[in-house]
Amino acid sequence: MALETHQFDAVIVGGGGAGLRASLQLAEAGVKVAVLSKVFPTRSHTVAAQGGIAAALGNVAEDKWLWHMYDTIKGSDFLGDQDAIEFMCKNAAKAIIELEHFGMPFDRLDNGKIFQRPFGGMTKNFGETPISRTCAVADRTGHAMLHTLYQRNIQANTQFFVEWFALDLIRDAEGDVLGVIALEIETGSIHIMHAKTTLLATGGAGRIFQASTNAFINTGDGLGMAARAGLPLQDMEFWQFHPTGVLHAGVLITEGVRGEGGYLVNSEGERFMERYAPHAKDLASRDVIARASATEIKEGRGVGKNKDAVHLKLDHLGEEIINKRLPGIREIAKTFANVDPIHDPIPVVPTAHYMMGGIPTNLDGQVVIDNEQAVNGLYAVGECACVSVHGANRLGSNSLLDLVVFGKAAGNKMVVEIAQLKAHKPLPNNAADATLARIARLENAQGENMAEVGGAMRKTMQAHCGVFRFPDLLARGVGEIDAVTKRMQHITIKDKSQVFNTARVEALELDNLIEVAIATMHAANARTESRGAHAREDFGERDDKKWLKHSLFYKQNNRLTYKSVRLKPLTVESFEPKKRVY
Ligand SMILES: Cc1cc2nc3c(=O)[nH]c(=O)nc-3n(C[C@H](O)[C@H](O)[C@H](O)COP(=O)(O)OP(=O)(O)OC[C@H]3O[C@@H](n4cnc5c(N)ncnc54)[C@H](O)[C@@H]3O)c2cc1C
Repeated sequence: MALETHQFDAVIVGGGGAGLRASLQLAEAGVKVAVLSKVFPTRSHTVAAQGGIAAALGNVAEDKWLWHMYDTIKGSDFLGDQDAIEFMCKNAAKAIIELEHFGMPFDRLDNGKIFQRPFGGMTKNFGETPISRTCAVADRTGHAMLHTLYQRNIQANTQFFVEWFALDLIRDAEGDVLGVIALEIETGSIHIMHAKTTLLATGGAGRIFQASTNAFINTGDGLGMAARAGLPLQDMEFWQFHPTGVLHAGVLITEGVRGEGGYLVNSEGERFMERYAPHAKDLASRDVIARASATEIKEGRGVGKNKDAVHLKLDHLGEEIINKRLPGIREIAKTFANVDPIHDPIPVVPTAHYMMGGIPTNLDGQVVIDNEQAVNGLYAVGECACVSVHGANRLGSNSLLDLVVFGKAAGNKMVVEIAQLKAHKPLPNNAADATLARIARLENAQGENMAEVGGAMRKTMQAHCGVFRFPDLLARGVGEIDAVTKRMQHITIKDKSQVFNTARVEALELDNLIEVAIATMHAANARTESRGAHAREDFGERDDKKWLKHSLFYKQNNRLTYKSVRLKPLTVESFEPKKRVY
């Protein structure tokens, strides 16, 4: 089949914060750049980010990027790469000022400077007391950021392919990446996007779990594409469970609520975080709070009819603060929990939120394989990438920062790589064969309904790989997720009740989700320690001697290998691993 081919210097898959920051850098450098997005760009999950973006601006109290760096390393439970963390924290202030100059309408202090609020794990002077470091636009920071970046891209003439679904990477015999195969959702036609450089910015994959704060579109497509292209996925055992998802609905209540002074209570009205984290209390790191809430519920001190939640109390903040700083949260609480937080607490539970792992990259956003060797022509940025600044646990408000700092760095490096290449490398003759065969398999199979297979995957992940991880459940989980993979081989998508192309996209998304789920389950089963968000019941302690290393999962034969953590920063002294208490 002759497929229509389009040529660009750079093809970016993903129109969220990461993709748009990179595309802006490229478009402003005069490079011919295309952004593919399966939804309208400003509907990307970045739009849902509430609480803010971190930078040691020091607008409220003295602050230093080195303190931010220390907090991030400690937050990562020492699994984060210290060179990447230094790079991010050092460039944070510049990134915020840049966003502000792009037109992002940050909240202000009375003196006109950018407003900053406290967030979990962000402290003064290497852990002394909580600090206000997170810049915000009320509780709609991601919305403001994404729209700002989109408008700048329009001005810079970035070319958008909206509702285009990237299917697979094109790799030639030498392993270089030459673009992607993509589906135009509306027409169902398949195209080749031939590029000198390709960037994956496809966001997270929280939809592998039953209960998630993530949008339905967060299906790990970039990870599926990388895995099928023979590339590794790094640190996939580390998933952040956010302590405050609305009970049953999963919708997020930002940590900014606790930053503004809200706190968690159990059925006895006890502010229980005082017991688990005497120092930081409700502003401890997310993994610590999620485990505390889960423990309260497990031990019978949950609230509600089924005692399966805890309460987030914020009525004491007063109507004015709630309406000014947390208007979206009031809205969400009314809609999804039927409570008005001005008067009543919100029932919340730990809910899958963020993927710390992803496609391994270096500081320039280049995708790297085992020996840190870069893959020519391929980049990844944002939640789908693992650079790794978040290690075993991300601090709130560090993700939006990661998007813009590394989005820009990747854009800059792509400009250099594009300038070095005189012409596009020729496409292999069989560039689309495997993809077309995969689609034909999905379309022609006459088997189980895909909704059931998807349901089985989510149920397995939720029950076997959640906040606490038990040895027998993990071991059985590996078998069960492998069985789900086999069922995926003969699903049927010819569901008459759905528009066919939408169902086709859903099947392709499920194909990607399952790649993420398998990697997660295998990596979690293998890591016999507790670190950050990975909490094993049988190995309760962190084991630096054996496990201070990143995991790399390969799809072929479900192979796991490991590589060391980069403990050496760029210019400052290393922060040596030590016990992590809040
Ligand atoms: C509810 C919520 C609140 C959050 N709040 C905060 C916060 O306050 N502060 C913070 O730092 N972090 C926050 N986070 C985390 C942060 O928002 C995300 O990690 C980040 O926005 C991800 O950005 P991204 O650009 O990597 O991906 P996304 O914004 O998810 O964008 C992914 C893009 O990829 C496209 N795409 C995906 N697959 C394909 C495909 N196959 N073909 C074509 N296009 C594709 C999508 O259309 C989309 O444009 C929050 C997350 C959630 C879920």
